[in-house]
Amino acid sequence: MNQTPEQIGATVDRLRATFRTGRTKPVAWRTAQLRALRTMLTDQGTELAAALHADLGKSEAEAYRTEIDFTIREIDHTLAHLDDWLRPEPAPVPAHLGADATAWTQYDPLGVVLVIAPWNYPAQLLLAPLVGALAAGNAVVVKPSELAPATSAALARLLTAHLDTDAVAVVEGGVPETTALLAERFDHIFYTGNGTVGRIVMRAAAEHLTPVTLELGGKSPAFVDAGADLHVVADRLVRGKFLNAGQTCVAPDYVLTDPATAAALEPALAAAVEKVYGTDPRTAPHYSRIVNERHFDRLTALLDSGRVVVGGDSDRDAKYLAPTVLADVDPKAPVMQEEIFGPILPIVTVAGLDEAIAFIDDRDKPLALYVFSDSEDTRRRIAAETSSGGLGYGLPLAHLTVSDLPFGGVGESGMGNYHGRYSLETFSHRKALLSKPL
Ligand code: NAD
Repeated sequence: MNQTPEQIGATVDRLRATFRTGRTKPVAWRTAQLRALRTMLTDQGTELAAALHADLGKSEAEAYRTEIDFTIREIDHTLAHLDDWLRPEPAPVPAHLGADATAWTQYDPLGVVLVIAPWNYPAQLLLAPLVGALAAGNAVVVKPSELAPATSAALARLLTAHLDTDAVAVVEGGVPETTALLAERFDHIFYTGNGTVGRIVMRAAAEHLTPVTLELGGKSPAFVDAGADLHVVADRLVRGKFLNAGQTCVAPDYVLTDPATAAALEPALAAAVEKVYGTDPRTAPHYSRIVNERHFDRLTALLDSGRVVVGGDSDRDAKYLAPTVLADVDPKAPVMQEEIFGPILPIVTVAGLDEAIAFIDDRDKPLALYVFSDSEDTRRRIAAETSSGGLGYGLPLAHLTVSDLPFGGVGESGMGNYHGRYSLETFSHRKALLSKPL
């Protein structure tokens, strides 16, 4: 049963009392929690995978690859480097303070932090921030998405059984529970989801001067240059776009290319869909379903935005929407007005590189931008002349699996970042220290 606002307030108070005792600060406590989380994932991974299948039709292999093993890698990377990251960093001291003065920085935990997760990778996007928050020595409230109810329930059960419940609490629920949480004072709020709710989170945080990390979405373009090997491009676009039925924040949202390349890319994409998902993707065990009817209806309404190259068929009862490629899409068409967040890949044509850069710069800064080009000049110009959370050359999605790269958006796609040591920085205060002997 979900907690009442009073119970939520009491939960936050309890965690704050634990934090005040200093229990979460020693590195030994942090690493013990990370190891316990790792054990939870290795021992009960199949339970989580079953929940992910119930919520999203995710295959077990994909649940491990994109959520469970992903989080284990993040834990292992953190355990391997945490001592190193936490080492105080000396700062050069100016001459006027004397030769005996020293200065350095150290990471302090923030206190009690809140992590709010979405439904599309409902385990990874709750647990990866949790890894960083624990590594930094915080008490943590995590709020799984109510739109992935089986995963939410599994996470609540498993995290409560494995972690220190005086310092880590799971609050399940939807808007009323999140609203009650946001009324509380936290020392940091880490939100992953859409920009509308991101604004609600930031407004609530402002009341308490609480810093926020907003991991949002948007339309991530994929620019395909003339002369690129379209067989390779199509294969990688299809695997990146249709993973989790397109419900991935960094999925290529649409293709930008010149008309001649578009004409050649269409059959290549159709062939790649057949190669990866077979002639009837409905029967492919590794093809996910749309999360709910509301999103299914939103997506099928976008199918009229262009000429169907491949896919287009759907089954509302099964929440199945085939991997679909749309050609001849006008930039003003409905499919180009909002983040698609589903298995529809529109192709929009531009005259060439200059127009592609202008097209990208005219719109909100994307979470990810992908470039398929062997031209050094094209790659360099796009890096220099556009702004996006991340930039991937030749391979969609993969940058977020590099633990030493910061993952986050810019502008409308979010603020702040995490993964690896960037998570430690997000969930810590870097304190300045100066010492002069008496
Ligand atoms: P969602 O509907 O699950 O919402 C996310 C969280 O916000 C949930 O925990 C939900 O309970 C809470 N919430 C919803 N309405 C609220 C309200 N009125 N007040 C307070 N809290 C509320 O997920 P979503 O937003 O549909 O997720 C999809 C979006 O997230 C897409 O835009 C996607 O690109 C983005 N996303 C970004 C990343 C990233 O890492 N940058 C990752 C995944 C998804």
